[in-house]
Amino acid sequence: MTDDGERGTPGKGLVQGLAVTLKTMTKRSTTQQYPDVEPELPPRSRGVIALLEENCTVCMLCARECPDWCIYIDSHKEEVVVPGAARARQRNVLDRFDIDFSLCMYCGICIEVCPFDALHWTPEFEYAETDVLDLLHDKNRLGEWMRTVPPPPAHDVLGEPSKEEATAARKAAGPGAATAAKADVRRARPTTADRPNQEAQPKPESPEPPQ
Ligand code: SF4
Ligand code: SF4
Repeated sequence: MTDDGERGTPGKGLVQGLAVTLKTMTKRSTTQQYPDVEPELPPRSRGVIALLEENCTVCMLCARECPDWCIYIDSHKEEVVVPGAARARQRNVLDRFDIDFSLCMYCGICIEVCPFDALHWTPEFEYAETDVLDLLHDKNRLGEWMRTVPPPPAHDVLGEPSKEEATAARKAAGPGAATAAKADVRRARPTTADRPNQEAQPKPESPEPPQ
């Protein structure tokens, strides 16, 4: 239903518009002068995916789990002679690792599933292209972005050590450390000799059975 009274007030809309203009004129501008000034992004921004090639074992998990099928990996096998080993071992050598960012939906599944921390988010976002075909980036480009990956967050001081840290600490302590630690725990347990009052207390009598 139309409000006849409001429609009949000439210039009301103009006054309202000017009021909004005056109100915003007094506020501080939030315009960011990009590209002259780089924006300050949160360190965990999902800009682009970087590849740490040395960590990649070509297990193919990321390519298999990617919902968009936009990761392309090629590799070949290479023999590695290990001194003292009965026969040469084989390892995968990465030939191609491309991500097509025209298809990628930045879900992060590839980063989550990688068991060797070879893929990382980086806040880098300046990789726009004028041709969509140029959004296919190879391992060299993905590797260059590694320098923009922020360092991992500090450990929670109250949290449990990771499996790797616990193993490293055990190794550093030497082979007898675990046995010695168990012996310390056993020695620290209170014995009956330490609790004479408890032993002296009479045991509660069991109730008489009903006749
Ligand atoms: S972020 Fe998602 S869509 Fe993009 S490459 Fe990784 S798994 Fe595929
Ligand atoms: S999941 Fe990780 S290690 Fe496996 S192929 Fe992908 S990047 Fe390489």
